[in-house]
Amino acid sequence: MMNMNVLSSSSPSHCTCGHWYVRHGICLACKEKPSLVQSRPFDYIFSGLRLSQEAVSFTKRLTTLISLHTHKKLHLVLDLDHTLVHTCKVSNLSEGEKYLIEGEKPCLKLYQSRIIKVRPFLEDFLKEADKIFNMYVYTKGNLEYAKELDSPVTKTLDLVLGDERGIVIVDDRVNVWPHHKRNLLGITRYQYFKHKDINKVLKPSYAESKRDESESSGALANLLKYLKEIHNGFFSCDVQEELDTKDVRLLIKGPFKPHGC
Ligand SMILES: [Mg+2]
Ligand SMILES: [Zn+2]
Repeated sequence: MMNMNVLSSSSPSHCTCGHWYVRHGICLACKEKPSLVQSRPFDYIFSGLRLSQEAVSFTKRLTTLISLHTHKKLHLVLDLDHTLVHTCKVSNLSEGEKYLIEGEKPCLKLYQSRIIKVRPFLEDFLKEADKIFNMYVYTKGNLEYAKELDSPVTKTLDLVLGDERGIVIVDDRVNVWPHHKRNLLGITRYQYFKHKDINKVLKPSYAESKRDESESSGALANLLKYLKEIHNGFFSCDVQEELDTKDVRLLIKGPFKPHGC
């Protein structure tokens, strides 16, 4: 009888749900509309999805466990601009680069008023890295937003659903990750077009001189080699339980720039 009383007294008005996962304002578990739960948007997974703080930390831990034990995958956070691609407004192309917009070029894409150059080896890199990492790309949008707000650019792992001990970050600007230095790999800034070329003002750009980074021994090819080493190092243990204490930060000891990157 006691039990029955307890059960019947838990009416929806005394909801004990933590409202961990809310979509378009409605809790996925109890269907209520929570108002006072602190949460963070995860629109990149489902539009309108928000996770509470508890849900974020629980999901990070769970995702890492599943990822490590079931798929043998780590997490890889890749910066986009100057790491994977270089983009430039068509109107900012130099005289010597205007040939690029005439005719089809397989490694160039026009998007709205911008021209996008993919870094050599990118396609192979993504295909191979995908086998050993869950991949995230940190887009320029976040950065421009930060600039507009006139705040210093700081990138965080808040939206990456994985434990820090299993996350590798790659960026051409290592100073934008002040809180995650030990997870961080530096890579040479990929500058294909002349516009805003800070280092090589006097030299012709790759585009002008019709050259490019090497496919087989450029930064992305060398990065892939290093990432495979990190992956091997992480999973090189005899007992499964050891995986629960492994930490990429002890392998990377970042910020670190791998050879040839
Ligand atoms: Mg960048
Ligand atoms: Zn709820």
